[in-house]
Amino acid sequence: MVGTLGAMASTEPTLFDQVVNLCKRRSFVFPSAEIYGGFRSTYDYGPLGVLMLRNVKDAWWRSMVQLRSDVVGLDAAILSPPKVWEASGHLDNFSDPLVDCTSCKTRHRQDQLEDADTCPSCGESGTFTEARAFNLMFKSQAGPVEGAGADVYLRPETAQGTFINFKNILETSRKKPPFGIAQIGKSFRNEITPGNFVFRTREFEQMELEFFVPPAEADSWYEYWMNERYQWYLNLGIPADQLRLRAHDDDELSHYSSGTSDIEFLFPWGWGELEGIANRGDFDLTQHAQHSGQKLEYFDQGTGERYVPHCIEPAAGATRSMMAFLMAAYDEEQVNDDTRTVLRLHPQLAPYKVAVLPLSKKDTLLPKAEEVLHSLQPHFMCDYDITQAIGKRYRRQDEIGTPYCVTIDFDTLEDNAVTVRERDSMEQQRIPVDNLVAYLNEQLAL
Ligand code: ATP
Repeated sequence: MVGTLGAMASTEPTLFDQVVNLCKRRSFVFPSAEIYGGFRSTYDYGPLGVLMLRNVKDAWWRSMVQLRSDVVGLDAAILSPPKVWEASGHLDNFSDPLVDCTSCKTRHRQDQLEDADTCPSCGESGTFTEARAFNLMFKSQAGPVEGAGADVYLRPETAQGTFINFKNILETSRKKPPFGIAQIGKSFRNEITPGNFVFRTREFEQMELEFFVPPAEADSWYEYWMNERYQWYLNLGIPADQLRLRAHDDDELSHYSSGTSDIEFLFPWGWGELEGIANRGDFDLTQHAQHSGQKLEYFDQGTGERYVPHCIEPAAGATRSMMAFLMAAYDEEQVNDDTRTVLRLHPQLAPYKVAVLPLSKKDTLLPKAEEVLHSLQPHFMCDYDITQAIGKRYRRQDEIGTPYCVTIDFDTLEDNAVTVRERDSMEQQRIPVDNLVAYLNEQLAL
C-alpha cells in the first residue's frame, strides 16, 4: 500500500489525501456549492457516492430490520417543536465548550485541545477566552410571516423522533419488549470544529436503533448489541486491526447512562468514533412521559406487570462509516510497470456490482453488449463503458471498486459467452451469457 496511515510529514500523498482526491475525481463526494467558492464542511454525494451511501444504509437496514423479527422501521420528521428538545435535555445540555483565541481569532472546542492553554492554530499560550457553552442545534422558524413564526429545531439526532413515537408503535405494531425501532436519516449539528472531510459535518446521516427491553435484561442486551454491531463492520470488510470497541470512562458517561461503548476506526489521524452503543436506562421515555403527560410504558397483560422499558441504543453515522469503508478499502499495488489503484470494497457496498465493457466500439459488438447489459440491469447496479482501451477501462472500474467486469468480444458473437474479470485477483473466466446472472449472483453473494 502506497498510502500511509498518519504519515503526515512525508511528501508522499497520505491515505487521507488519496481518498479525498479519489472521491472528487470519481464523483463520490463533492464540496457543496463549489461554483460559489464552496460552503465549509458541507458535501454533496455524486453519482457514485449516492450509490455507495445507499448501500451502507441498505446493509444496515438489512441487518437491523430485514433479517430480524424484533425490529420495525420509522422515518420521523426532521423539524420538531422546542418541547421535544426540552424533554430530551438537548436545549439545556447539547452544547460543546467553546473558546476563542484572542491572538489569531480562531475558535476551538475546549474538550478537544491537546493543551488546554495553547492555541493549535497560532501556537500562542494564554490567549483563550473563558469557555462558553455553544448549543449545537440549528434553530429556525415555521410559519409564513418572517419573525412571527413558531420556533422549530432541526433534529440533531434521529433518536428523539423514535422515543416520541414509542406509544404509536407499541399500540399498532403488536411488538412487545424486547423490540426495537430503527431509523435512518439526516441530522444537523452546528459543529464548532467541522472537518476531516465527511468525518464531522454540520449535516450528516445517522442510522440509529432504539431497542426497548425489560429492565432486568438491559445489561445482557447491551452486551449483545456491542458484539452485533462490532461484527457488522468486520463483515463488511473493516480489518480487525483498524477497528476497536472502547468503553467510556466514568467521567465520559452521560448522567443517565449506565454504560456506553464506542466502535472506533483507525483513521489517518488516529482512532475516531463510528458508532456509540449506550445503555440509556428509562431516561428518554420517562422524560417524554413527564413532559407530554402521556404514559410511555409497557403493560404485560399475561403477568399484569407494568414497567417503563429500558433502552439500548446503537447509534451509527452513515456518512462517517462510508468514509471509513473507503479508507479501509483503498489500495495501490504494482502490476508490471503500472500502479493499480483498487478499492477493495465489500461487494454489498460497491457502487456498481458489474461493468459491461464491449471490447471495441464497432457497431457489430454494441447491440450484443447492450443486450447483455439489459439482461443484468434488473439484477445488479451496472456501469456501461465503451470509451478507451479495455485495460484502461478495467483500471477505471478497479478504482471505484466494481467487483466484476464483463467483456463482450468478437467471439461472443459466435459462442454467446463473455469474459468475466474479478477485481481483486484480476482473474478472467469465460462464462456463457445464459449463465451470467446465476454466476454473478453466486460470486457476489449479496
Ligand atoms: P462525536 O463525539 O464525534 O461528536 P457523538 O458522540 O456526539 O460524536 P453521537 O451523538 O453518538 O455522536 O452520534 C452517533 C453517530 O453519529 C456518531 O458515532 C457518528 O458516526 C455520527 N455523527 C455524529 N456527529 C457527526 C457529525 N458532525 N458528522 C458526521 N457524523 C456524525
